[in-house]
Amino acid sequence: MNTVFSPAPSVTVPVVGTSAQFPVHRIYCVGRNYIEHAQEMGHSGREPPFFFMKPADAVLVAAPGSVTPLPYPGLTKNLHYEIELVVAIGTGGKNIALEQAESHIFGYAVGLDMTRRDLQNEMKALGRPWCIGKGFDHSAPIGPITTKSAAGDITHAAISLQVNDAQRQSSTLRHLIWNIAETIAQLSTAWELQPGDLIYTGTPAGVGAVLPGDTLKGSISGLTSIELKVI
Ligand code: MN
Repeated sequence: MNTVFSPAPSVTVPVVGTSAQFPVHRIYCVGRNYIEHAQEMGHSGREPPFFFMKPADAVLVAAPGSVTPLPYPGLTKNLHYEIELVVAIGTGGKNIALEQAESHIFGYAVGLDMTRRDLQNEMKALGRPWCIGKGFDHSAPIGPITTKSAAGDITHAAISLQVNDAQRQSSTLRHLIWNIAETIAQLSTAWELQPGDLIYTGTPAGVGAVLPGDTLKGSISGLTSIELKVI
């Protein structure tokens, strides 16, 4: 194809156990999906699910076995971590039935929904979109994707985040308010899901700020852990 400049390279995430890469289409995120986190953000924890997006090229692949640099973004004085299960969609669809939802999953990964909390709160107060707080460059760190069959049943998996080796977030996936199937079914009523979509499923309680020099270690049992250093 004759294009006026070179198209941006496609965004891909490694898949555990193969040299093939998972090409990213869109990044959807679920807000307030663990009761204790909803409460720490000042809500009851009983609202219907809601969604926001990050650009696909906000992905920052955290290579296994190494510490990935995470650039501290501009404009903020309050960069927060949010450890999250990421669901990778392999088969698209709209209005997906709850019972069919799992068949649309390709695999799972450990991710971080990095957030400029001060800007997000400012936008919330003004009733404006969250993009500047959520959708900035490198705001979506992610580890390699483990296929659904290799991961097995992860509905009770432990999820945790350490900052400088101190535990900051710790929960299990069974505490998701809207579970994985419900999230896929709901999301697919609003957008037609496509192969390559990533869904950041929300964070447990314990979110907080990091500064340059801090190290983040995120884990979900059964998946590849991630380690990043804020620079
Ligand atoms: Mn989040």
